[in-house]
Amino acid sequence: MAAGVYLHIPFCKSRCSYCDFATDVWRDERSVDRYVTALIAEIGNSKSEILTSVDTIYFGGGTPSLLSSDQAASILNAVSSRFEVASGSEITMEMNPATVSPEKLRAFRELGVNRASFGVQTFDDRDLKLLARGHDANDARTTFRQLREAGFSNISFDLIAGLPGQTMQNWSRNLDEAITLSPEHISLYLLEIHESTPLAEQLRSGRRTAIDEELAAEMYELMLDRLAAAGYDQYEISNFSRPDLQSRHNSKYWTLDPVYGFGVSAHSFDGVQRYANERDTAKYVELVESGGSAEVTRESVDVASEFAFLGLRMESGIDLAEYEHRFASDLRNTYRAGVEEAINNGLLHIFDGKLMLTRKGKLFSNEVFAVFV
Ligand code: SF4
Repeated sequence: MAAGVYLHIPFCKSRCSYCDFATDVWRDERSVDRYVTALIAEIGNSKSEILTSVDTIYFGGGTPSLLSSDQAASILNAVSSRFEVASGSEITMEMNPATVSPEKLRAFRELGVNRASFGVQTFDDRDLKLLARGHDANDARTTFRQLREAGFSNISFDLIAGLPGQTMQNWSRNLDEAITLSPEHISLYLLEIHESTPLAEQLRSGRRTAIDEELAAEMYELMLDRLAAAGYDQYEISNFSRPDLQSRHNSKYWTLDPVYGFGVSAHSFDGVQRYANERDTAKYVELVESGGSAEVTRESVDVASEFAFLGLRMESGIDLAEYEHRFASDLRNTYRAGVEEAINNGLLHIFDGKLMLTRKGKLFSNEVFAVFV
């Protein structure tokens, strides 16, 4: 089985009001160059993965589309010198509206980047302001057109639902516009409020009001119906694609294939253990520059348990025979009480030898996953 490579680029033009990712504001070229040099050194120092075959590479962030094409090229060269990159690999870059020129998009495409994960979030300018996204809906339309003109034929939209003050009408308009633009893939995120963010403060002070869970669930259901009617297949709880255009990289996380992560706060899974890098960019750079490892945590994974609850995220569910073959145990026996209760409550069902979430189960998925943890 081929592995994936994840590359974290932590820089953004400014910080969004809901963000708690490991990001830094893009200050000057020198510090970005220094980070890229450290990232390349970390890739070069990774010993155990040498000559591992990989078929997906993913630039995540942050805003990787702020990289110059030369920086992206050096990073890809470092990956190719450490891993056997299969021909036809999926190479994704997260891109935000108004962060790329047509020339840069063409250069990324020439480097082999063949999939854009595009941070649209919403087409509503009021909501974009609330999120402090630093772009408006027109920027998103323009960058999307430029992506197409540069030859990107595999584009994924990130959409975010459950924003304070968001109405069904407003959400429905977002879906209309996304469907009209017709990207190959759509990922849905439900807004999560993180304690130390400006948005959390706005909610605490009463300047904004969070929407209730019932409305968020209705938004999710509307999305299921509208995307199905528009010809998108749901292949994971929050991911929809045109036939055969699922994210191959993200699917590796749900099927427990190895993914090697590089860069600040990057996570890796080698098939047995999960490990993570330092979360502070300056410390990460210092660690790598001093010749040390950037790794700060490592833990063994209960593969059988993760195979179960991550597998349930997928529309294809868990193949019970495969589970038994792989872990020498019958999943229905191991988790008997929880599975039976979830089936009786209409959250899980078994079809064609596979255990799957029902439509209701997708709405209460955390409750179902708790059975397997
Ligand atoms: S663009 Fe993404 S990573 Fe950057 S600040 Fe906004 S939410 Fe965070």
